[in-house]
Amino acid sequence: MSVRVGVLGATGAVGQRCIQLLDGHPEFELAAVTASEDSAGSSYSEAAKWRVDAPIPDAVADLTVRATDPAEVPDDVDLLFSSLPSGVASEVEPDFAEEGYVLSSNSSNDRMADDVPLVIPEINPGHLDLLEVQRDERGWDGAVVKNPNCSTITMVPTLSALDQFGLERVHVSTLQAVSGAGYSGVSSMEIIDNVIPHIGGEEEKMETESRKLLGSFDGAELSRHDAEVSASCNRVPTIDGHLENVWAELDADPSEAEIEAAFRAVESLDLPSSPDQLIEVFEDPSRPQPRLDRTLGGGMSVAAGGVQTTPAGIQYNCLAHNTIRGAAGAAVLNGELLQSEGWI
Ligand code: NAP
Repeated sequence: MSVRVGVLGATGAVGQRCIQLLDGHPEFELAAVTASEDSAGSSYSEAAKWRVDAPIPDAVADLTVRATDPAEVPDDVDLLFSSLPSGVASEVEPDFAEEGYVLSSNSSNDRMADDVPLVIPEINPGHLDLLEVQRDERGWDGAVVKNPNCSTITMVPTLSALDQFGLERVHVSTLQAVSGAGYSGVSSMEIIDNVIPHIGGEEEKMETESRKLLGSFDGAELSRHDAEVSASCNRVPTIDGHLENVWAELDADPSEAEIEAAFRAVESLDLPSSPDQLIEVFEDPSRPQPRLDRTLGGGMSVAAGGVQTTPAGIQYNCLAHNTIRGAAGAAVLNGELLQSEGWI
């Protein structure tokens, strides 16, 4: 039987991707969409300035957008994908969880809270068991699970592969697409013919979220990985796809071929949104490129290339689609994991 799901913040950049990815989903049936009070009461097709490169699914176009309030969402909806601005999410997500809804959330609030699982299903699925602690501490019937920031999720699968060689220190410089800032995030006058060498809060998110994702959970407490991570984040005039240049210092001294083999060996899962290959490795050092490679695995794969040993450590480039693997697809995959692990 399919699970009835809803999308909070359904009219935004991430919400629209969620709607697209849920269209025809084998296990989830979309039953409710919410947005701000400005959109509530309108049909979805009127409220959403649709910008995804596929038509609005017929079944969604005529849905009435609801206010983002637990009282407005039907009780038989079990799973909510949240793509709200973090300030809004920090106020309403606990209300939904208290009312018994399970949330798979993109928003950055509470990602680093000790009782909130931050999950990439292929990398740290066991962290989901932190929900026992969350329910005990907060008294919720529902639950909140987070997926990481879009720039963090691009890099962490590769770091996880490198951990077997003793991951000690990571430096990363990003080239992040404009869709990562949401539809009203960066004006065209700011970004055309330009690069903005700062994205507020992003560097800290990469530094802290990576260590949480790579940390271990002993059934009661989550410890952070002790690798040092430093990030420099840049906004560039691509539409979708974050490209990142990574330098990793390792305890061991693997060859370039061993690094590439370790990337290829990271296993994908058997969930409906899983790509066949989690990390696609390119031999051609001019790949991956955002325009060419962001839709690998339906936008759910990470691409890596340019692996080389340098005096500053292993260097390589990686890329992921920021609104699919980096946001909506990550939340849907976490929803699939929640269902397969019996949390819904
Ligand atoms: P966005 O395009 O600005 O969309 C925001 C959504 O939230 C819209 O549906 C909007 O509805 C709704 N909303 C705004 N204010 C609200 C309020 N007071 N009450 C209820 N709903 C409200 O933002 P986005 O880029 O999709 O990002 C959504 C979240 O995902 C953010 O927390 C962001 O940090 C995170 N995220 C984004 C990306 C990315 O690549 N874009 C990646 C990872 C995580 P209206 O249309 O009615 O205003």
